[in-house]
Amino acid sequence: MLSLTIKEVSLALREGRISPTELCRKCLNLYILDYIPPFNATVVQKLLDQGAVLIGKTNMDEFAMGSGSTDGAFGPVRNPWSYAAPYREQKGVEPQSDWVISGGSSGGSAVAVASLTSYLALGSDTGGSTRNPGSLCGVVALKPTYGLLSRHGLIPLVNSMDVPGIMTRSVNDAAVVLGVLQGLDVKDSTTIPAPPSFTELPEDFDVRNICVGIPKEYHAPGLSDETVAQWSRVADMFERAGARVEQVSLPHTQHSIVCYHVLCCAEVASNMARFDGLEYGHRSEVDSSTEAMYASTRHEGFNDVVRGRILSGNYFLLKQNYEHYFLKAQRVRRLITDDFRRVFRSGVDVLLTPATLTDATCYSDFTQEDNRTRSTQEDVFTQPVNMAGLPAVSVPTSLSRRGLPIGLQLIGPALQDNKLLSVARWIE
Ligand code: GLN
Repeated sequence: MLSLTIKEVSLALREGRISPTELCRKCLNLYILDYIPPFNATVVQKLLDQGAVLIGKTNMDEFAMGSGSTDGAFGPVRNPWSYAAPYREQKGVEPQSDWVISGGSSGGSAVAVASLTSYLALGSDTGGSTRNPGSLCGVVALKPTYGLLSRHGLIPLVNSMDVPGIMTRSVNDAAVVLGVLQGLDVKDSTTIPAPPSFTELPEDFDVRNICVGIPKEYHAPGLSDETVAQWSRVADMFERAGARVEQVSLPHTQHSIVCYHVLCCAEVASNMARFDGLEYGHRSEVDSSTEAMYASTRHEGFNDVVRGRILSGNYFLLKQNYEHYFLKAQRVRRLITDDFRRVFRSGVDVLLTPATLTDATCYSDFTQEDNRTRSTQEDVFTQPVNMAGLPAVSVPTSLSRRGLPIGLQLIGPALQDNKLLSVARWIE
């Protein structure tokens, strides 16, 4: 039986010493929204079927658009590492006045796991939204192969890239949860049957048999020295253990962010059309006409980031722009996917890359800059994986000089999630 909560919390819940609502209110950055969905997402139902206790919904960037969890409807998410002694001492300030971001968009989920509030949390990963906060909060974050987990019940961002992500404190836990969640779902036509061996990681995994690729294009501008040092340290560790470590090239990586921007906005423009005030969520008081109600609902209900993407998406989809932007971006997406295929076909088993450019940024710095530009840069290592539908996992590997977690990412070929996790466990 799988339990979502740590032992003490689940005992307190069972004995009625704390209600789930109280627990959520007490827990850092956990909120309960008064909306009760009429059905459970398949991934949630699968956990409940195994006896998991669902303790709450977590804060995130609005509609999963962002990389900092600073743009949520409930305010920003604080990274619990801001409260750790080394960070506080070095900053010389109380965390109330300055603190570091959790990363995003599923920052609240990463915080729930990092703060020991829950055994596991789910996020959504369209461009890195579980791996980015996982890395900044020091927890394991798995983005499974596209189609391995059902998206039924997951609010769509980019349907062809969205995957429910899994955040846990260890790689083994992520493998257990993957075993529970994976598999065909008649309610999601993009799901695929899972290979039967997905439930357990082999005990005797030998890294001497693997080839680790280091993509040279991932030496991106803005990458911190400390992250580069970690990246080299782990690559050396593989080499010393007898693995083959090779530099590889993924030449279209540089176009990935721009291409994602076009495809994401186009799908956002279409996906957000359902939020018109009639069927879901917020409805404006303005009722002078149906059009006025629509316009006002969408103006009040969406933040600037969401509205900006809807506008850009509609622009990219205009008849005269469609070929130039949308179709071209789809072609580039194919080239990015082919890069990965070629590298894996050449004998590389996993790719080792950074997960984020730096350790977690201060909230005041993150929000001072042009947030959207920063958000976009943050996805540079995580986002190409979603273009190609591949599995990837970020694993915490060390602490920075500021006492904050640094994580690395491993990327594997499609449906080799199990092997990927075996390698991840080795570096954990
Ligand atoms: N940061 C990316 C974006 O804002 C990815 C978000 C995600 O993975 N949900 O679109």
